[in-house]
Amino acid sequence: MDDLKLIIRDIPDFPKKGIVFKDITTLLSDAKSFHRMVDLLAHRYVGEKIDQIVGIEARGFILGAALAYKLGTGITLVRKPGKLPYKTSSISYELEYGTDTLEIHEDAFKPGDRVIIADDLLATGGTMAAVVDLVEKNGAVIYECAFMAELEFLNGRSKLPSGKVYSLLKF
Ligand code: AMP
Repeated sequence: MDDLKLIIRDIPDFPKKGIVFKDITTLLSDAKSFHRMVDLLAHRYVGEKIDQIVGIEARGFILGAALAYKLGTGITLVRKPGKLPYKTSSISYELEYGTDTLEIHEDAFKPGDRVIIADDLLATGGTMAAVVDLVEKNGAVIYECAFMAELEFLNGRSKLPSGKVYSLLKF
C-alpha cells in the first residue's frame, strides 16, 4: 500500500497557509495506481448487499462511480446547492469559517436502501458527517463511509458512525 501512498503528492500551503494538501490527481492519472486503488476498495464490498453508492461532489464522484461500476450498483450524487435539477433535500453544516450546504434528490433512495458513501479524503469529518445525516434523513441505511485516504491525526472518524468508516491509505 506504501506505493499508493507515495504517489499522492503533498502540496504545502494549499489552499491556504498551514494546510498540507494531499493531491490525489497523481494517483488518479497513473493507470496502475488507479486500478489498484479501485480494486482494493471494491474487493472489500464484493458479495455484500449494497443498493447504491453515494458520491460527494466533486472528488467523491470519481471513487463513487468506479465503485458503483465494480459492484454493479447505481450512484447517487450529493451536490453543492443549485446543481441538482429535481426536488432536493438539503443539509447545512459548520466550516471553520461560516457554513456550507449539500443537496441530494429527495427520491434518491427506497426506504432501507443500504448505501456506501464515497469521498476522496477524510480530514476533519465535517463533510461526511453532514452527508451521513442527509442520507439517513432520506431513508437509507449507511453500510460504510469509504475513503481513498484519511488524515488520522485529525480524528475525523470520531464524528462518523462507529465501525462504519474505512479508508484505504492512512496518513
Ligand atoms: P473534511 O470535511 O474536513 O473531512 O474535508 C472535506 C473535504 O475537503 C474532503 O473531502 C477533501 O476533499 C478535502 N480536504 C480537506 N483537507 C484536505 C487535505 N489536507 N488534502 C486534500 N483534501 C482535503
